[in-house]
This record gives sequence, structure tokens and C-alpha cells, in this order.
Amino acid sequence: MEKITTSRRQLLKMGTIALVTAPMVGMSTVASAKQNTAIRTALKFQSTPNGDKQCNKCMNYIPNAAKPDNKEAVNGCKLYPGDDEIPPNGYCNGFVAKPK
Ligand code: SF4
Repeated sequence: MEKITTSRRQLLKMGTIALVTAPMVGMSTVASAKQNTAIRTALKFQSTPNGDKQCNKCMNYIPNAAKPDNKEAVNGCKLYPGDDEIPPNGYCNGFVAKPK
């Protein structure tokens, strides 16, 4: 009898966790593309190059592994946690040129 009670509790816990996390899974799918607006503002991010300085020539640029050499705003940057909309031709004050 004791075991059945414990199992019911476990089932209730699992059901509660499933109810709480199921909507979160949907939310993460919908809100997959994000911009870190606070850091963008602080570093004066722009979606256009500054002369020959641009994101894909910067040490902080993280190219999208699933889309190498893309021209889309689907990349990352070491200075922008959670931001996955960095365009290859963007620019900000955090620019550090890659060694040639
Ligand atoms: S630091 Fe600025 S210029 Fe360099 S990749 Fe990040 S956003 Fe682009």
C-alpha cells in the first residue's frame, strides 16, 4: 500500500512538471531568434558596416555553424549573450579585427 501511494505522488509530480514545461517548449520554438537590445544599445550596434570593419571580420563574430558563409542575420557574437541575429555585415564599438 505504501508503494502505491509513493507511485501516485511520483505520477502527480511528473504530471505537474509536464504541465508546467510543455508551454515553455512551445515558447522557446516561437521565440528562437533573439536580439540582446541592451548590449546592442550600449555598444552602438548597427546593421551596416563601418568602412571595411564589419562583423564577419571581427574576432568576436560567431558564424552560424548550420549556415556557413551565409549573408543572413542568423549568427552570434561573443559580446552579445543570447543574441542570434548578428548580420555578417553589421558593426559595433566592440569590433576587434581578425588577424590577417
Ligand atoms: S563585437 Fe560588434 S562588430 Fe564584432 S562581431 Fe560582435 S557585433 Fe559584430
